[in-house]
Amino acid sequence: MLPAFPAVALVKFLTNPLGIYLHIPFCEKKCNYCDFFSTFATENSLDEYTDGLIESIKKWGGLLKNRPIDTIYLGGGTPSLLAHRLPKLISAVNENFTLLQNKEITLELNPSGNVEDLLGYAKESGVNRLSIGAQSGDDSELKILGRTHTASDTEKTVKLARKMGFENISLDIMIGLPHSNHEKLKNNLDFILSLCPEHISAYMLKIEEKTVFYKKREELNLPCDDAQAEQYLYMCQYLEDKGYSHYEISNFAKKGKISRHNIKYWQGIDYLGLGPSAHSALDGKRFYYNRSIPKFLNGNSPVCDGDCGGEEEYIMLRLRLKEGLNPDEFTKLFGKSLPKEFFERCELFKKAEFLNTDNNRISLTDNGMLLSNRIISELLECL
Ligand code: SF4
Repeated sequence: MLPAFPAVALVKFLTNPLGIYLHIPFCEKKCNYCDFFSTFATENSLDEYTDGLIESIKKWGGLLKNRPIDTIYLGGGTPSLLAHRLPKLISAVNENFTLLQNKEITLELNPSGNVEDLLGYAKESGVNRLSIGAQSGDDSELKILGRTHTASDTEKTVKLARKMGFENISLDIMIGLPHSNHEKLKNNLDFILSLCPEHISAYMLKIEEKTVFYKKREELNLPCDDAQAEQYLYMCQYLEDKGYSHYEISNFAKKGKISRHNIKYWQGIDYLGLGPSAHSALDGKRFYYNRSIPKFLNGNSPVCDGDCGGEEEYIMLRLRLKEGLNPDEFTKLFGKSLPKEFFERCELFKKAEFLNTDNNRISLTDNGMLLSNRIISELLECL
């Protein structure tokens, strides 16, 4: 299945360049909480996968050659395992697509293993943004999570990256961890802040099926829902006070340092995802590759996943962003106004301090973000 490109899409893609996501489905070890699609890597499997991904890049590049690209995101899995294969992978994107000069190229990396060589390969490839899986500044928490690094590894990696000229670094942190409390969270936030990242992604621990944590869920000593909510609200305020704008439910950034790639997902801008389990939204269609490395390497086509760009999706995605949605923009895009019931329901949520409705924008407060799924589904019922 390959999507057609109607003329009407021309204006959209000239004003909004495409993003490319490359999924690297390999990890050194499975973390205890993780249900992402990944498997263990060998040198052979990494070589074989890189070659297969390059074939896919060539195929898609042939179809989208004239379409400007301004972000590339290597996620996983653990893309840093690619090491010396990174330059040829990113060269393949360069050769087969039209990359804009001010592109953002992000590499997710775990702060373990031979980081110095890896950062050298990243520099050589043109990577200009690092997303480092710090997760916690407490070694006992990292051990419980099943991570392969320590807090000191994170610190060394960030310092080395700075020395090597990386000026845009994002750190991941997890909250709602086993045995966590207010004091531990503050220490973790202070650890992250001491490294002066430009961007912070903060994820609430979720217990997913088929993980080690799921099997041990009764013994984990997790904070209750109220305590988790308090941690989230505390973190949002703490990071805002330190100069990080809370621009999306789970993301905070210094001025001008939002993730240009990830924001495409929430602003409804097209992106192409390559690799098993990678999703795409292109010219009004969603599609994804199956969670199977052999099928991907055999050149299996992606699976259709319906249309994108509809009214419901617009509301769902825009409300994830702190800037929220603009009712006039909705009218312009869909040729009709939001119904009266929608605004009435917004007023109720505003009274409960879950929504802001200032400056002709409707957006979730931090309290509202905690209940985003419920609020959004109630608003969608009004359409
Ligand atoms: S959390 Fe990241 S490093 Fe850990 S298993 Fe999942 S994808 Fe791999």
